[in-house]
Amino acid sequence: MQVEPVMTQLRTMGIGEVKTGEPLSRHTSFRIGGPAAVFVEPDTLGGVVEVLNSVRDQQLPYFIIGQGTNILVSDQGVDAVVISTARGLRQIEVEPPVMRAGSGVLLTKLCRVAERAGLAGLEFAISIPGTLGGALVMNAGAHGGSMVEVVDSVLVWDAISGVRRIAADDVQFQYRQSRFMHNPWIALEATLRLKSGDPAEIRAKMHHNMDYRRKSQPVGEPNAGSIFKNPLPDYAGRLIEAIGAKGWREGDAAVSDLHANFIINQGQARAVDVLNLMRRIRRRVFQETGIVLKPEIRWIGPGEGGADTTWENLWYEEGEGLREP
Ligand SMILES: Cc1cc2nc3c(=O)[nH]c(=O)nc-3n(C[C@H](O)[C@H](O)[C@H](O)COP(=O)(O)OP(=O)(O)OC[C@H]3O[C@@H](n4cnc5c(N)ncnc54)[C@H](O)[C@@H]3O)c2cc1C
Repeated sequence: MQVEPVMTQLRTMGIGEVKTGEPLSRHTSFRIGGPAAVFVEPDTLGGVVEVLNSVRDQQLPYFIIGQGTNILVSDQGVDAVVISTARGLRQIEVEPPVMRAGSGVLLTKLCRVAERAGLAGLEFAISIPGTLGGALVMNAGAHGGSMVEVVDSVLVWDAISGVRRIAADDVQFQYRQSRFMHNPWIALEATLRLKSGDPAEIRAKMHHNMDYRRKSQPVGEPNAGSIFKNPLPDYAGRLIEAIGAKGWREGDAAVSDLHANFIINQGQARAVDVLNLMRRIRRRVFQETGIVLKPEIRWIGPGEGGADTTWENLWYEEGEGLREP
């Protein structure tokens, strides 16, 4: 990508901060990731849409980033325009029992606003880091609940037809997936339908969920949450623990002692260390159980057209006959 003309054009638009070579390790919970050719943080929803229209019209590779809590970014970085929702999509409106929020709003913040407004239904989300946008894409869930239960509609930017509202049914939420993963859609805002509840009860449930999380997951160390999806009805954590992988390490990346489906960065871990550890785990689980673990975290690496967000190329390099992730 020709960085200079892109930078000049984006700066002329006056939509917010535009940088080149921004280390993505500053924007991921793993604290891992090389530089973005261009990094933009638009200040408003209109600015986000303007940037999206511009990169589409110029056929530039782009990637949207929320809080970076569910991604592994290559050490080489990405030759793409990385667009952050952190500043421009932060509005929250409450009209009980409905809440409307920008996709850059942190889930924990949204939960606290719901609690104060006496709106129940989001208690499951209090312990999930990241933005509302990231949670929509992954149908994030915990403690028996997930986004599908509360989303009414989503305002999306669609590379083909522009900004439009889509009903929750059309998002086709499933376990840790949605149509966002297979369509050129960016979530701008979501409308959530909640139920009226007692703020004290809501608070107590949230407190319970956070307490459970603190005891069962390495929340204080850099990580990206669950590495592999649960091969339902089994649990990835149980399988990984059963092969004796707790404590395995590659460079500064290590399998957490607290939860085997978490990899933690103990200092200077690189993406390649995490990938090597994931390969080892996946290979051994396959050898011992015949189960092919599929990543829950998303991969962002250099590839055709500037960025590769699929795992296939990485796994096929192994030539081991493990099928698609
Ligand atoms: C300690 C820890 C615990 C976790 N626990 C859970 C858990 O219990 N349950 C769970 O489901 N997840 C969990 N996660 C994973 C993660 O927090 C969630 O998936 C979260 O919703 C991701 O949000 P994000 O803003 O960080 O997304 P990012 O990591 O920034 O992005 C994730 C993906 O979504 C895309 N994306 C982001 N915003 C948008 C948007 N507005 N429109 C379109 N695409 C977008 C990105 O391009 C990327 O592909 C955990 C993570 C950590 C670090």
